[in-house]
Amino acid sequence: MRFADIIGNAEVAKALASMADSGRVAHAMLMYENEGCGALALALAYVQYLNCADPHDGDSCGECPSCRQMAKLIHPDVHFVFPVNKGPKTSDDKPVSESYLKYWRELAIADPYFTEADLQKAIGIESKNGLIAVAEAKSIISKLSLTAVADGYKAVIFYLPEKMNQETANRLLKVVEEPPVKTLFIFITHAPEKVLQTIFSRCQSIRVMPLSKDEAASVKALKPADDREEYTMFMDLFSDLMNSILTRDLMTALECGETIAALESREKQKAFCNFAGNCIRKIFMVQQNMMQIADVEVHEEEFFKTVAARCGRKFCARTMTNIEHVVAMIDRNVNSKILFSDLVNRMFVSI
Ligand SMILES: [Zn+2]
Repeated sequence: MRFADIIGNAEVAKALASMADSGRVAHAMLMYENEGCGALALALAYVQYLNCADPHDGDSCGECPSCRQMAKLIHPDVHFVFPVNKGPKTSDDKPVSESYLKYWRELAIADPYFTEADLQKAIGIESKNGLIAVAEAKSIISKLSLTAVADGYKAVIFYLPEKMNQETANRLLKVVEEPPVKTLFIFITHAPEKVLQTIFSRCQSIRVMPLSKDEAASVKALKPADDREEYTMFMDLFSDLMNSILTRDLMTALECGETIAALESREKQKAFCNFAGNCIRKIFMVQQNMMQIADVEVHEEEFFKTVAARCGRKFCARTMTNIEHVVAMIDRNVNSKILFSDLVNRMFVSI
């Protein structure tokens, strides 16, 4: 991945390149983004640039041995950590990221803008929570204790540090604080407030900005076709829900809530919440006469305009807050039937 290949976030790419040029390479960095905005792509391009044998014009060459290894995500000095759990794609009883590396590589090469739900699916743990357990910390420490294979930087790209528990963080703390020479940690988070303070406080933080409408469309084009299937399924569900609320049909609305609660995993339920939150934002934009920035696709226009005309003034703001609450509760393993029937009820009374 070269900086030139990255969709959006040109300013962040420039800042990373100049950090590398000036030699002021932070040994621990925390990139935070809204899911899918390219933090992983930026991290990969940054490490590739740092280790490139022939960098020029503010970018890596893309052709030297190091760049080629980075393109396949097989650089021997670059390690990846991400949340895992036991599943059918590994026989390891205590799996670590390495157990699923093949699937991680396939996913990240095809689409470095993948979401957490995409990752869960790729490694076959859709129905479980991914975690970063203490075995992972041991594995990283032992990898970093080895001498670098090449003459560049050793890097650990750490996806979703918010999924690590206190014990894992404690184990890692020393090496994050005082890493071996020419070693860097890049943490990528979607929820900086959930990253343990002991880790957060040791990192230089970088905000990866949300994508523009055109950039998001370019990212969408990278996604496999079954994402469109998910869109259709979510859109049908959301429109059934809104239509039943607007026609004051509480039974049907509650049935929609049950359908959402029955989605096969918590990640899928959260993906629906993100989708619904995005739809509510569109409704709000249409109500504010900001159609041009509402990001409404042509085939959706009629639906969003009709719904926007019929929702009360405070419905969108209240529903956004309620959806955020549901997402937080899903993470705390609260019963999803209760959560979604409560959400539907709240939407029903605040329309
Ligand atoms: Zn190169």
